[in-house]
Amino acid sequence: MEKKRIIIKLSGEALSNGNNKAIDPEKVRVIAKEVVDAYNLGGLEIGIIVGGGNIWRGKIAAEMGMERSSADYMGMIATILNALALQNAIEELGVETRTMTSLNIPQVAEPYIRRKAISNLEKGRIVIFGGGTGNPYFSTDTTSALRAAEIGANIILMAKNGTDGVYNKDPRKHKDAVKYDELTHHEVLDQGLQVMDSTASALCKDNGIKIVVFDMNTKGNIKRVASGEKIGTLIY
Ligand code: UDP
Repeated sequence: MEKKRIIIKLSGEALSNGNNKAIDPEKVRVIAKEVVDAYNLGGLEIGIIVGGGNIWRGKIAAEMGMERSSADYMGMIATILNALALQNAIEELGVETRTMTSLNIPQVAEPYIRRKAISNLEKGRIVIFGGGTGNPYFSTDTTSALRAAEIGANIILMAKNGTDGVYNKDPRKHKDAVKYDELTHHEVLDQGLQVMDSTASALCKDNGIKIVVFDMNTKGNIKRVASGEKIGTLIY
């Protein structure tokens, strides 16, 4: 049976406890377990893109006066720290992984080479993509769209921290906010809905990549979405 190839996007904040720890090993363990539970369903090849916002965001540093490109490179390095933490936790659970980075640090991770990434996935390894696209001015959302297109994954599972889907307005501010079950990429872009940045959205739209936005804080959700259960918001 041919396996289904998917990308899971985790924001950096997923690994943080929100207080004083940028990377909280306990939170990393919980997420790793969720990913491994999905992997153990069988039938899936899993690539993970992890963000770096728990440690550093280039745009915010630039707003505070730092030169944007340098600040963004720091952000990309932050995503590699997260990738290594996640790799460690997933391997503790007995699943083989490879971290592949778009900025080369061969002593700690494989360089990202598209065909090697596909080969790693075919061998049943979970591939964690660190370093974003390797270019400043982009985001790890765009990385998810780009890598999905490159490796032939037609769906991105977008795990959100405390949001269970896409709403017509901010549900934290508006009690009457309505959650969408489904949306088209066109609607997301047209209505300026905050799902991912517009570069990432456009890339998904142009390449027919679906996105499921869901809350990762509900135990078992990654497995649910991975097995095709309809939760969150589907964007197609
Ligand atoms: N970044 C970048 N190019 C990329 C991906 C990320 O410059 O292709 C930098 C950027 O500064 C960004 C930071 O890395 O703010 C962390 O990534 P992101 O904000 O996407 O992380 P998340 O919000 O998912 O935690």
